[in-house]
Amino acid sequence: MINLNYSRHSVIQVSIFSDDLFELSVERNGLEFLPGDCVALYTDEAKSRPYSIASGTNEEDLRFVIRSMKDGEVSPWLMNRKPGDEIRISPPFGWFRPGQDIGDAPFVFMATGTGVAPFLSYLNTFEKVPTKVLYGVRTRNDAIGFDRFNRRGSSILAVSREPSKDHFQGRITGLLDSLSLDGTTHYYCCGLESMVNEVSAWLQGKGIGLPQIHREVFFHG
Ligand SMILES: Cc1cc2nc3c(=O)[nH]c(=O)nc-3n(C[C@H](O)[C@H](O)[C@H](O)COP(=O)(O)OP(=O)(O)OC[C@H]3O[C@@H](n4cnc5c(N)ncnc54)[C@H](O)[C@@H]3O)c2cc1C
Repeated sequence: MINLNYSRHSVIQVSIFSDDLFELSVERNGLEFLPGDCVALYTDEAKSRPYSIASGTNEEDLRFVIRSMKDGEVSPWLMNRKPGDEIRISPPFGWFRPGQDIGDAPFVFMATGTGVAPFLSYLNTFEKVPTKVLYGVRTRNDAIGFDRFNRRGSSILAVSREPSKDHFQGRITGLLDSLSLDGTTHYYCCGLESMVNEVSAWLQGKGIGLPQIHREVFFHG
C-alpha cells in the first residue's frame, strides 16, 4: 500500500565514489530531523527502503550515503537519479542518537561501510567530538568522510579488502583492543549486523552495560 505521508524532493546531485557507492543529495524543503534519523526513500513504483540522513541539521540539502545492491529494488534506482528528478521521502524516524542524550559522557563511534551516515550527520551538526572513531571499509575509496573525522578527533580506518600501508588492514573488530574502556563512555555501532553483534558481545564481555551500547543495523549478514 502506498504511504501518502511523504514529501517530494528534487535531486541536486548523485556523486559516485566507486562502482556501487554513491552520495545522493536532494533539496531539503524544510524537513526537520535529528542526527541519527532515517527516512524512507520511494521509487516511482512506490517501493521504499530506509536510509539514514548523513547531512547536518543546519545544512540546506539532505544527503545520503548509499551502497547500490546488485538486483536491488531501490538502491540502483536511486543511483540512477539525475539532477531535477523528484524523490518521495517519508517523515524522519529513528531512535539511534549518536552522541546525544548522554550529558557530558564521552562516546565512541564504530561504523562499517554506509553505517557511517548517522555519524556524519552528528559531525555535520555538533561541535563535541567522539573520543574515538573506528571505521571499517572494504577499500580506501569507500571511506566517505574519513578525512573529516580524522581532522576532528582520533579516528582509525580498517580496510578489509585491499592492502593498506597507511591504515589498519583487516576488519574493524581487529581494532577493538585499541579502545579504552570505562564505566562512563557510550559506544555507538552502526552498519553490518555481524559487526554490530560482534562489537556488542565484545563490549559486554569487558563489562560494559547494555545502556552504554547503542546499535543500529543497516544490513543483515
Ligand atoms: C534503519 C536502516 C537504515 C539504513 N540506512 C542505509 C543507508 O544510509 N545507506 C545504505 O546504503 N543502506 C541503508 N540501509 C539499507 C537499505 O534500507 C536497503 O536495505 C538497501 O539499500 C538494499 O535495498 P535494495 O532495495 O536496493 O535491495 P533489495 O531489493 O532489498 O535486495 C536486493 C538483493 O540484495 C540482497 N541483499 C540486500 N542486502 C544485502 C547485504 N547487505 N548483503 C548481501 N546481499 C544483500 C537481497 O537479499 C536481495 O537478493 C538501511 C537499513 C535500515 C534498516
